[in-house]
Amino acid sequence: MELIEGIIIKTQKYKEDSKIIHLITKNGLVCALGRGCLKIKSKNFYILQEITKIAIDLHVKSNSFNIIKSTKLLDNYSTIKLDSKKLETVLEILEITNVFSEHITDYITFYIFLNDILDKIKNSINTNLYKLIFKIKMLYLLGIAPEFSSCINCGKKNNLIGFDFESGGMKCEECFDIKKMLKYDIFVNFKTLYLTKLYDIKDEINIDNFDECDNFVDSYYEKYLGYNIKTSNIFKKINNTASRS
Ligand SMILES: [Zn+2]
Repeated sequence: MELIEGIIIKTQKYKEDSKIIHLITKNGLVCALGRGCLKIKSKNFYILQEITKIAIDLHVKSNSFNIIKSTKLLDNYSTIKLDSKKLETVLEILEITNVFSEHITDYITFYIFLNDILDKIKNSINTNLYKLIFKIKMLYLLGIAPEFSSCINCGKKNNLIGFDFESGGMKCEECFDIKKMLKYDIFVNFKTLYLTKLYDIKDEINIDNFDECDNFVDSYYEKYLGYNIKTSNIFKKINNTASRS
C-alpha cells in the first residue's frame, strides 16, 4: 500500500455528510471522496480541511470518485489558521493554485514549492512578501516565464536595455521602445525575486516600491493569463461584504 502525500487546496460538500477533497500532489491534482467526514465523530472531520497536508490511502475507481480509505495528518498548519493575516495570504495563494491547477507544467516542482512557501509563511511576519514570490515564481510553472537573458525580439544577448512588459522580456538597444519599458527599480525587484532561490529569501530582504511591484505582477497575470487577481479575490470580497454590513 502506497500512501499519497498531498496538500488540500479545496473541499466541496457532497451529499449529506461527505466531502470531495482536491489535493495537490507530486503527480498532479487528485480529487477524492471523503465519505462521512462531515460527521462530528469522524476522525477525518478535522483532517479533511483546506490548508492541510495529509497522506492518504486511496481506493481508485474507474467509473466513479476515488474514495479515501485512510488518512494520516502530516501538518494542519495551525500557526497559519490561527493568524488572520497568514490565513488570508494562504487562501489567496490557494485560490491562484485552484484556478491554474490544471495548467501547471511540472507538478513535482510545484508541490515542493507550495510546501516550502507554506513553511515560509508559517514562520514569517512578512506574509505579503511570500505571496508576491509565489505569484512571480508561478510564472515559470505556468509556462510564461519572463525572458531575462536575451532580447525577446531578436535573441541578442548583448546591450539589453530594459524589460518590455508588452513582450514579456528584455529588449536590446536596437529593438527597445522607451515608452514600454518597465521602471528600472520594479524590474530589479521582479528579476531578483524571480531568480533568487526561495531557500535564500529571508524576511529581511528589502523590496523598494513593494506595492508597485505587486501591481506589476498582477497586471502580468492579467495580460498573459487573462486572470485578474484583485477582482477574483474571494477573501477580499468576503471582507468587504462584512465591513459594509
Ligand atoms: Zn533585439
